[in-house]
Parts: sequence; structure tokens; C-alpha cells
Amino acid sequence: MDTLLIEKAEKVHQSNFKSTVLFERAIFFSWGCSIGDCTFCYMSTQPKEKIVKETKRSDASLLAEFILAKQLGWDIGFFTGGIGIFTPLELEELLKKIIVITEEKIWLSVGPITKPLLIKYSPYIRGIVGSTETINPELHQVVCPSKPLAPYERMFESAEELGLEKAMTFIVGMGETRDDFLLLKEFIVKYKINKIHVYGLIPQKGTPFENASRPTKEEQAWWIAQLRINFPKLDIQCGIWEDRIDYLSLLLKAGANSISKFKATKLFGTDIAKQIEEESVKAGRSFVGTLTKVPDVDWKEIVSNLSFEQELKDEILVKLGQYLKTMNENSNE
Ligand code: SF4
Repeated sequence: MDTLLIEKAEKVHQSNFKSTVLFERAIFFSWGCSIGDCTFCYMSTQPKEKIVKETKRSDASLLAEFILAKQLGWDIGFFTGGIGIFTPLELEELLKKIIVITEEKIWLSVGPITKPLLIKYSPYIRGIVGSTETINPELHQVVCPSKPLAPYERMFESAEELGLEKAMTFIVGMGETRDDFLLLKEFIVKYKINKIHVYGLIPQKGTPFENASRPTKEEQAWWIAQLRINFPKLDIQCGIWEDRIDYLSLLLKAGANSISKFKATKLFGTDIAKQIEEESVKAGRSFVGTLTKVPDVDWKEIVSNLSFEQELKDEILVKLGQYLKTMNENSNE
């Protein structure tokens, strides 16, 4: 481990941000995708004959998750899912409902969005996320054969023109080399990227990466530290899976602002969730919100105060009850 690099990055973080750490929930609206061939992605392993629109979650389930996130003090990392699930009108209608709950604009990640559609969604979104994954052109061609970078680059340019924020994703461990940092740096500068999500490869069953090694914490931390030192104000999110919670304190010391990828509702209140909060403290940060204690709020009243039709409110309450049941059971074990 390059201790000096991490110490330097930590100092840069301390000079530019508060000593807190946020959990950011990525809310997925589907488990299918019409592109479906990115070689690292879980959605590429789903049955091809499945009609992608049928893989969409119900509005009630999605909206219940937004309510939970708000009450638990989680930020919304982004609203996302596979490509080809919504028509623009369907997405706009859903975004309208979402911000009734969040009371603030959200990040959206639904593939490359054209400028006219960005204008359409702009009353509801603070920014867009380009799932760029890697900037190395040869590697990108291999891992995202049907998802070229150019449309994302055009989206970043349009977003800049419209005053929207721009975020990108980067997955460590797919075959990039440290020399590729230069390409990443140039890309961030060129497209005035405000935020980056730095994930580590999850070797998904049924993908070419099935038997690949997961990146080490030192490797993921190296990329975060370089980003922090080169871009002191950049918002950096680190993705951690439940098999690598022990990475967290190092990734935070390397300069990450927030955490994502953790299955926060399913594993809420478990020892793993407690460990996330402990790792944050170990890194000298206080954890904002909770992954371990269900807040004592009147969920019925929260739902009843929303300006939705009664039928939708009833469905949301049912879904909310299902989430809370698991979370309470975990917390009481
Ligand atoms: S476009 Fe996104 S969701 Fe679809 S296969 Fe590729 S990475 Fe997965």
C-alpha cells in the first residue's frame, strides 16, 4: 500500500469536505435491459427471451424505496435501470412522482439522453450519470460492445449547456492499467465531470468475469486517491459490495465522499451494516443517516400526506410494510 499517497489524498479531502460520509442509494427500476451485453453486468445474464418492459418494478415498490431512503437519511445516488424500459412520457410521469417524495431533484442514469429529453426531464433532475465504466477505448469496446462512449460524451456536452451536473461511472478491475489514469483525467477535465462513482468489479456468475479476481482494496483506493489529489473538489462515491466491507475505511481515507452498492434494505440492521458504520468511524468520519436503526416515524402518515391517488398510496404502504418487516426483523436479531 502506498501510505504516502493515501495520506496525501486524505489531507486533500479534509481540506475540502466535512468529516462525514453519506450512504447513497441507487434505486433500480428494472432487472432487464435491451442492450444486455455489457460483459460485467448482471443484466447480461438474464434470459434473452424476456421482454424487457416486463422486468420493470411497480411504481409503488419504487416510490416506497424513495420514502425509505428519505427517512433513513440516505441520498439518492441515482435512479437507474436497464435501457428500453420506459417511454420518455412514462419516465417523466414517474420522475414527477419521485420528486413529490424527495422534495429535491435527483440524479438520473438511463443511458445516453438526447438534449430535447434532457430539457424535458430538467425540472426533476439535478444531473445525469453516464455509465461510462472505463475510458480505455480498447477495453471499452470489449466490455461494452453495444454501449459506445460517444453518445454519453454528447450527453455530457448537452448537460453542460443546460446547467445540469454530470457524473460518470468507473469500474476498477476489468483490465485497465494505472497508465489509463491519464485518459480518465483528460475525460473528467474535457466534460467538466462533477461526480464519479468508483466501483470494484463484481465477478458475476454467467459472465466472462465469473472467475476473475475482485480488485484489492489497495487497487480501488489507488484510483480514488489519484482522483482526490488531482480533483480536490470532485464528488467521489465508492461502491462496496457486502464481501468487501473491510475495504471501506481505506477507500474513505483515500478521499471518497460517499458509499454505494451495499444492499441496504436487504441487509439493513445486520452485522454487515453495523460494520459499515464502524468502518466509517475508523476512517475518522461520522456516518450520516442510518443503516442499522429503523426510525420511529409514522409511515402511514407520511404516505397519507403525499399528493397521490389513494390506490397508489395503498399500494405504497403495502410495499413499505414489506421492506420494514425485513428491516425490523434484521435489527431485532
Ligand atoms: S447498458 Fe447498463 S444495464 Fe444494460 S447491460 Fe450494459 S451495463 Fe448492464
